Amino acid sequence: MANVRTKDPNTTLPAYLDCAATTPIDERVAREIEQYLLEDFGNAGSRTHEYGARAKQRVGRAREEVGALVGAGSDEVVFTSGATESNNLAILGLADALREEQRTHLVATRLEHKSVLEPLRVLEERGFSITWVDVDDSGVVDPAAVSQAITPETGLLTLMHVNNETGAIQPIAEIALLLERHPAFFHVDAAQSFGKLNDVLNNPRIDMISASGHKLHGPKGVGALVTRRRGFSRIPLRPLMFGGGQEHGVRPGTTPVHLVAGFGCAASIALTSADEWLRAAAEFRDIALDGLSSLAPVVNGDPSRSIPTIINVSFPGYSSEAVLVRTKDIVSFSNGSACTSNSYEPSHVLTAMGLSEERIGSAIRLSWSHLTPQPNWSAFVSEVKSLPIVAA
Ligand code: PMP
Repeated sequence: MANVRTKDPNTTLPAYLDCAATTPIDERVAREIEQYLLEDFGNAGSRTHEYGARAKQRVGRAREEVGALVGAGSDEVVFTSGATESNNLAILGLADALREEQRTHLVATRLEHKSVLEPLRVLEERGFSITWVDVDDSGVVDPAAVSQAITPETGLLTLMHVNNETGAIQPIAEIALLLERHPAFFHVDAAQSFGKLNDVLNNPRIDMISASGHKLHGPKGVGALVTRRRGFSRIPLRPLMFGGGQEHGVRPGTTPVHLVAGFGCAASIALTSADEWLRAAAEFRDIALDGLSSLAPVVNGDPSRSIPTIINVSFPGYSSEAVLVRTKDIVSFSNGSACTSNSYEPSHVLTAMGLSEERIGSAIRLSWSHLTPQPNWSAFVSEVKSLPIVAA
């Protein structure tokens, strides 16, 4: 079975370099989804017939496939609609328990995705206190700063694994070590790393992991919150919605079996392919940076501490909006995260890294996968060079 989607030579579409927004689906995953849409279309909650049994069996297998990526058991996987919901469930779903335990202090960084920042702000309005840990221009948080932020009242530390705008990898293992003897829950938003940087996520000190199907060549509309037991105790999460006992009672609603099957299939491919994917991505990055060298790109972040699938670069003297428009027939990319790219606010991530307004204004994010063919960089560079220079 082919595992690499090659570019259709007849396509008129530009090269797709926005894999941090969503990845192309693996063809094996698409076929799996089709099977559970067209043939085995039963409801996993139907107990009285073969259609239900088949659906339930596939959902059970997907739970194992997703859990296996991070060393979690199938009963520790809660399927959701995506990482946005997983992040909301992890943060808001824990609030009652934290209040009862009088541990209403939370720790996070300003680099987090909006689906972490906004639920945190909701809790702040409800009386929780938050310590925001600062970062320097590498975009990588210093474990010592996290250590300083943690108090005896800290109930939750939430930290992204890989930043979606810069690719910066946070020192999750070091921070897990800091928490070894602290009762705070540790939640990791792994939307950009799940299925890629799996070893770190196997750490048993990480209590909750958010994942998204469509960032690892699976379908949109499905994700997971991995909730690790502590001994025999489950994480004291309360549901955000009511009306069914699915997903261990924390996420009611009819399971979208086809999406869950697709996510499971993507996870099982990632389990054996991640290293190869990252090797191919690192090669892509070297060639891309070489192709862009005459634009004197300034990398925002530290490439030696970043996932090789994402790079954020500023081309001094060129506005990112102008570059996007001028090169849109050659390459599809973004100058922020897809969730916020309809607003023209400067990136909260690059701002938190303390970068100058000019540098932020000229920053673009390029992101790819092992499936991405190299675009025509010389055509891209000559289009950019034809733009007027913006005064610094
Ligand atoms: N967290 C991060 C770090 C992300 O990059 C994204 C997607 N941009 C999300 C959360 C939200 O994921 P989803 O699209 O599955 O809701």
